[in-house]
Amino acid sequence: MFNINQITRKNIQELVPYSSAREEFSGTANIWLDANENPFESNINRYPDPFQNELKEVVSSLKNINTKNIFIGNGSDEAIDLLFRAFCEPYKDKAYIFPPTYGMYKVSAKINNIEIIEIPLLENFELPEQEDIFKKIDTNGLLFICSPNNPTGNIYSLNKIKSIAKNYNGLVIVDEAYIDFSNHPSAISLIQEYPNIVVLQTMSKAYGLAGLRLGMAFANESIIQILNKIKPPYNINTLSQKVALDILKQPSKTRKQINTIIKEKNKLQEQLLSLDMVEKIYPSSANFLLVAFKNANYIYNELVNQGIIIRNRTQQIDKCLRITIGTSEQNACLIENLKKLK
Ligand SMILES: *Cc1c(COP(=O)(O)O)cnc(C)c1O
Repeated sequence: MFNINQITRKNIQELVPYSSAREEFSGTANIWLDANENPFESNINRYPDPFQNELKEVVSSLKNINTKNIFIGNGSDEAIDLLFRAFCEPYKDKAYIFPPTYGMYKVSAKINNIEIIEIPLLENFELPEQEDIFKKIDTNGLLFICSPNNPTGNIYSLNKIKSIAKNYNGLVIVDEAYIDFSNHPSAISLIQEYPNIVVLQTMSKAYGLAGLRLGMAFANESIIQILNKIKPPYNINTLSQKVALDILKQPSKTRKQINTIIKEKNKLQEQLLSLDMVEKIYPSSANFLLVAFKNANYIYNELVNQGIIIRNRTQQIDKCLRITIGTSEQNACLIENLKKLK
């Protein structure tokens, strides 16, 4: 059975966290002389809310989840790093990934001195059979499922995620950076029943706020408490909290952009398929297409010369380039330039 105390590092269990001024007193007051701030008011002379309560209230109603189950980080990358630091003992615990997938898991593991075990996806980018997965797992730690997966674009069924979580005593991290582009349900619905599932989402993709650096982790309250205990006290700055609130309060604008991106994706897919140089386009539940080209490196370099930058993934997946969906005009320009290449 999964037990949070069994996977939390001893130094973290014993840690007495730093207590910030804004944590020790957070009510209303007339005069603030507790945090050594500059008293001359501007938008940002005060420290930000260390627990982003106002932002979490909005996320809570948007995602239909209690604020106690929400952690907000300086990008999902911060959440990934904190998960390693809280739950993986260097030289002992391991992290499990299904390549080809997002590169940060491996980098974060290496920074934290955690061995990475690679369990390759099947040829169609589906997860391997359960039995084959667990053959490779011999320790607690973190198991990453990126869904929809970057760079392949496919999404995994919640049933598969459930049965992996049920049989694993470490944490199952479901990275849903692209979930807003998909019509599949989020794994957030699983966290009540599966205390070892952590769902990551981000404001960097569908919400159009990559420059802001805001990621979210949704999990069992005991996991969130530990992340809060070890995070830098003021990890989300005042301006980021404010802009995120503004954007989250106009969900119809975001929804409209997402719908446009999906429509553009379908259009781009059709146009690409009509080109001789394109061998295959993989099904995508995200805001990008993974495309196999007959002469991928040549295409990539020629596009760079035209000032059009896509992602070369040929090192991970033979012949494949990853194309982010742009505006209608940008996509048209891409197609036009591809047509000039023979
Ligand atoms: C883009 C992306 C993220 C986002 O990371 P942030 O730090 O929130 O910008 C996370 N996971 C995957 C798989 C991504 O592709």
